[in-house]
Formats: sequence, C-alpha cells, structure tokens
Amino acid sequence: MADFPLDKSRAFQARANQSLGGGVGHDLRYAEPVPIYITHGRGGRKWDVDGNEYVDFLMGNAALLLGHADPAVVAAIEQAVVEGTHFGNDHPRHIDWAELVCQLVPSAERVRFVNSGTEATLLALRLARAFTSRQKVMRFAGHFHGWHDDVVHGFEMPFDRPVSLGVSGNEERGMVTLPDSDSQAIQAELAGGEYAAVIVEVTGASWGRAPLPPGLLEMLREETRLNGTVLIFDEVIAGFRFSPGGVQQLAGVTPDLTCLAKILAGGMPGGAVGGAADIMRLFDKTGDAEHDRFGRVVHFGTFNASPLSAAAGIATLEQLADGSPIQQANDRAAEMRSEIAALLEKHDVAGFVYGEASLFHVYFETDPKRLADIGSAADVPTNEPGRLKGMPPVLVSRYQKLLRYAGVDLMSGTGGALGSCHTPEDIQLATAAFDSTIRALLDEGLISQIG
Ligand code: PMP
Repeated sequence: MADFPLDKSRAFQARANQSLGGGVGHDLRYAEPVPIYITHGRGGRKWDVDGNEYVDFLMGNAALLLGHADPAVVAAIEQAVVEGTHFGNDHPRHIDWAELVCQLVPSAERVRFVNSGTEATLLALRLARAFTSRQKVMRFAGHFHGWHDDVVHGFEMPFDRPVSLGVSGNEERGMVTLPDSDSQAIQAELAGGEYAAVIVEVTGASWGRAPLPPGLLEMLREETRLNGTVLIFDEVIAGFRFSPGGVQQLAGVTPDLTCLAKILAGGMPGGAVGGAADIMRLFDKTGDAEHDRFGRVVHFGTFNASPLSAAAGIATLEQLADGSPIQQANDRAAEMRSEIAALLEKHDVAGFVYGEASLFHVYFETDPKRLADIGSAADVPTNEPGRLKGMPPVLVSRYQKLLRYAGVDLMSGTGGALGSCHTPEDIQLATAAFDSTIRALLDEGLISQIG
C-alpha cells in the first residue's frame, strides 16, 4: 500500500473542501482516505491525478456499457459539438433517439426525454397520478429511484428511518413503502383501488444487491392491471444492460411506464420516460384552451434531449441493438463472479458472490448468530434485503479502499458493473486485487471463515 501515491488527490480534496458542498459532487464519491480525481479513461481502465491506474467497475455509475471513450460515441459527439451544443429547439437527432428507444424498449410507444434517472422517476410518478387521478404510490423497501423527495426515503437501512434531513411528509404525499417479499400485503393494499402507481427497481433493490423475489414482476403486472394502477419499471440501471429492451424484454412483462437513464445517453447526461400511448397522451396539446391549460401534464427542462446527449445515446444504442456488446459484458461479468467465488472458496470465507447480467455483488456474513449456524458454503447465501444491504460500513469502506489500492474501483457497496470493454487481462488483474483484499480482510478480522 505504501506505493499508492495520493498526494495530488489530497491537494484536490483540500481545495474541494473549500469550494464544494460536502467536498464532493455525489454522496457515493466519498472515499477513504480521499476521493480519487480521475483525469481520463479508455475502455475498462481509468487513471487518476496521481497516475494510479484502475480496472474500472464503476463504469460511470453503470452509465457506460461500451467503456470509456468508445470511438463511435466520441466521433458522434465530435460531429454534434461543432454544429452547436444546445439550441433549446427540438432537432433531428432528438427524433432519431426517440425512435431507437421505442424500437428497443417493449413498453415505450412514446418517449419523453429528461436529464437524469431522478427526473425520469419524478416525471413517471406525475404521469401516473395524473392518469389515475389518485395520489398514493407504492414503492419497495431498499429500492433506489433517485433523490427527489417522493422516493429518496426507504432505500437505506434502516428502511423505516429518514434517509435525509429536509425531506418530510411521505405519508401526506401518499408514498407507501412495503417489503417486496410481502406479496400478501402488496395484493391487499392494491385491492383497495387507491394506488396511482407501483414503482419497482427491476434489478432488485440497489442494482440487484437484494434480488427480487421470483414472480414479483408478473404478480405486480397482474394486480396493477386488475386495480387500475400504473405499473412503473425503474430500468435506469437495467435498461440497455440486461438486454436491448431491458428486464421487461427478458421477463416478458410489459409495464405501463418505464424510467430510463444511464446507458440511454451513452455517457452524457440524459434520461427518459417511455410508456403506453394512452398515458403519454397526457403531454399532448389539442388547441383547446381549457384542455391545454388544465388538462395536461406539464414538463419543461432546458436541456431535455440535448443534442450531445442524443448523439452519444444514438451511437450507443445503435451498437448494442443486436445484443452483442451486452452478451460480451455478461460473459466477462460471469468470469469475474466465478473468479471471486473461487477465491471465497479458496480462503474458506463466509461470503458469496452473486449478480445478474454484467453486475456483481459480494456478501460477507458478519452476524455472529448466523456465523455460528453456518456449517458449509451452501449455508452462506441469504436473500434478506436487510442483511444484503446491511453489511457493517467499516467493512465495506475498508474493502473498497483495499481494492482501490490494488487497482480496482467499484461502483458502490461491494459490487461493480462491467462493460463490453473489459478484457481477460482486466479480469486477471482484478482477481489478484480481490485475492489480496480478501486475505487482508481476514487478517484484520473484518470477515470470517466458515466454521
Ligand atoms: N433509479 C435507479 C435504479 C438508479 O440506480 C439511479 C441512479 N443510480 C436512479 C434511479 C437515479 O438516476 P440519476 O443518478 O441519473 O438521477
């Protein structure tokens, strides 16, 4: 660890603390001992101001599937940028982008662009409430849908305590949080016919850290259809990553509205709501003064469908439309998961690795009561969201730091996102980093062996 220079990062942090609220631009960018400041990236690697090289499993918070500086994406942005960065008018690329999304995403008969995943869930909830003339929204404990006031609670342990100061009135706003495993409560609540919407993170809570109970999406589809509730799939992570049409295409379950962002915009800022034409019609103007003033859902946004985001988004979606980069990323992630599984077995660790598509997560059991009951590796896996999302912060932060010092940058928690850009050498380097990290965590007593 001694040969991991951080002097320049430390100097940037000192300046950042004087000019940035909280010293960082996003709550996940805090890092021990200092945040890293990245200068450039190529493919599956990136470099910081001190010259440290990382195998990158953050992938722009999972916004990149093709990797850093993909040549076709860079060329598309270069071509667009000289034509003008921003018009405030609609433009031809906007329509091309919308058509691609409608082609790829089963539920998207129409699409409306926004600037982030947070804006996408905000707009989807507004549409659902307008469409149903109801206020209540069901969301699930542990699921993340961005940081606006309606959804920012309920995703972090303990799920029933506020996540942020300055956010109140979940009940007055009609937000109801249920465990995604409690199908009886979900069905009983929906049966009252009071819900405008159900919103679900289709990967399972926090990009799959707590996987969904089997059959949940199908059950939600059935119950929401019966009760006139709008079903919203949050595919901000899964869209264009799990398949060209997201989880809905894989599962064969079509929601009424879909929230998209991240890969959608090819590494530029962007998001979208796609959905059924009868709901998306709420944006329409008819020329009737009464309707146009009082009968619509309003939506503004200076940078919606910005030309550069559209250019990068189109260049990305065109490449992944046939599914081959997705398959490449999935294959590489499967290799990474099996290398980590082999290391956990080699060191006899009470932990397991899991994840779908191009994602992975690692769980270390630290609960003394459970550890005492674990006789073999088969006893380790759990599907309890409270455990999967509740590992001790000191362990998670130490694990992230050890991996970073060994040349691997993760996404959040204990996991990461891969892209079609990752190479067998990246997996080899990362495997060595996981090996040294697991050894150190065992030495330090932060994780345990089986038995
Ligand atoms: N929904 C999900 C499932 C997400 O993972 C995220 C971001 N990680 C968001 C919404 C919010 O997206 P953004 O950060 O673009 O606002």
